[in-house]
Amino acid sequence: MYCNQCEQTSKGLACTVVGVCGKKPGAAALQDLILHSLQGLSKYAQAARSQGIEISQEINQFTMEALFTTLTNVNFDPESLKDYIHQAVKYQNDLQQAGAKMDEPVLKITGQTTEELVEEGERAGYLVDLTQPEDIRSLQEILVHGLKGVAAYAHHAEVLGKTDERIYAFAHEALAVINDRSKDLNFWLDMVLKCGEINLITIELLDAANTGAYGHPVPTSVPLGHKKGKAILVSGHDLHDLKGLLEVTQGTGINIYTHGEMLPAHGYPELKKYPHLVGHYGTAWQNQRREFPEFPGPILMTTNCIQEPKETYKENIFTTGPVAWPGVTHLPNGQWEWLIEKAMAMPGFVDDVEAGSVMVGFGHHTVIGIADTVIEAVKSGDIRHFLLVGGCDGAKPGRSYYTEIVDQAPNDTVVLTLGCGKYRFFDHNLGQIGEIPRLLDCGQCNDAFSAVKIALALADAFECSVNDLPLSLVLSWYEQKAVSILLSLLHLGIKDIRLGPTLPAFISPGVLNVLVENFGIKPITTAEQDLKAILQ
Ligand code: SF4
Ligand code: SF4
Repeated sequence: MYCNQCEQTSKGLACTVVGVCGKKPGAAALQDLILHSLQGLSKYAQAARSQGIEISQEINQFTMEALFTTLTNVNFDPESLKDYIHQAVKYQNDLQQAGAKMDEPVLKITGQTTEELVEEGERAGYLVDLTQPEDIRSLQEILVHGLKGVAAYAHHAEVLGKTDERIYAFAHEALAVINDRSKDLNFWLDMVLKCGEINLITIELLDAANTGAYGHPVPTSVPLGHKKGKAILVSGHDLHDLKGLLEVTQGTGINIYTHGEMLPAHGYPELKKYPHLVGHYGTAWQNQRREFPEFPGPILMTTNCIQEPKETYKENIFTTGPVAWPGVTHLPNGQWEWLIEKAMAMPGFVDDVEAGSVMVGFGHHTVIGIADTVIEAVKSGDIRHFLLVGGCDGAKPGRSYYTEIVDQAPNDTVVLTLGCGKYRFFDHNLGQIGEIPRLLDCGQCNDAFSAVKIALALADAFECSVNDLPLSLVLSWYEQKAVSILLSLLHLGIKDIRLGPTLPAFISPGVLNVLVENFGIKPITTAEQDLKAILQ
């Protein structure tokens, strides 16, 4: 196996024996074969588009879901992964039968059983050809990893009925062209920035999907304790799954708690209206093996961020959508009967416990709604600087940097945050500047769209560019959605981003040089040093 797509990759290079995430070589081979099968499908989809043959929404959306299964911490189940390969081959055949003609050969996949497909996957290997010149290989990897992030966000928008043909056309174009040795460095640089543009379209679409379905988030205090009674914990990003579960559990006496990236759900009017959405449990994804055994009810993983379940709670955890773990019960979306049964059979919380609260709900609608107050505070000097401290959490000790930079930021700074990196400091009391809280949570990592909208609105008000605002971006990355967000920021021309905790293994020195020269990207140093540089 060869996988270097996330920040915890082995030795900072690549996982080649087994994934640090728990991915076994068999699952890795099947994920490689999914990418090859999608490349074949994409070549036919490209041909079909150029020949005026319609591509069904089923094929488009399948492409996104199948890509999503290969993202870090999503699908570890060989039986589930096998089905995606068969489906991709079927859709490729459908396009051929519809008349799509291709001169180029595509990888022929013939295996039927999981074992046969694992062997084929091992023979096919990593999608990107590692023998190409280093910088080209690096850009191709950035493109594939970024595309996986796009696919995850597109999938979330699709379940709420929002689609955009530009996303699918680009995904097929990018997958079809990977490994084309006739293309030069500039071509791949353009493709990588185009991926950022397409991701921006995708997170805007997802913002419209979420706010269209559930209203604009409003500032909301979320309890971190628990209430006596039966309980279900919902993790991941899929607000649609949460809404469905809230509906069917009304009147059952079961309380619903959010976990991980589901926290911002509490700010949406159409979700917070349910009185049995009672609070948030636990912190970021990497702490689940410590936190889940203590939860006295079943746990639903709606999207990514699953770790190998311990035996102590394996019976209580359920997956849905593209998420799967061998031996863990997978529930088809919306079919929550077993979950409810399990909740009724488990003890639930036996007492009420207060454990403080955190604020959520500072999306673009809320923050732009108080723009006059914010602008006045900047003009009067009450706000000296904005820090966007956003992105992922992870297990590495170097991530304490993000806690330190927030805690050490002076009282005349405002911290915007998003993604699961905020669990490092989400319950710290930073106080207020006048009426404005110093810590503003914009939401999930896809709500980087909110942060962009807020920055553009401020730039507009001050008649300057985003790069001229008193705003600094300090980002943490872990997996491929963070790659796609970073590409969107680069596409927007945003400069001087600080990135950590370590730089991605798939960025070659030559590509890093381009990022430093053209975008001023900087690796994080220490909180003290970076704050000094930011505020001078
Ligand atoms: S996803 Fe990350 S940890 Fe898992 S195999 Fe790939 S690089 Fe390794
Ligand atoms: S913030 Fe990062 S780790 Fe967390 S869900 Fe988003 S991309 Fe994944």
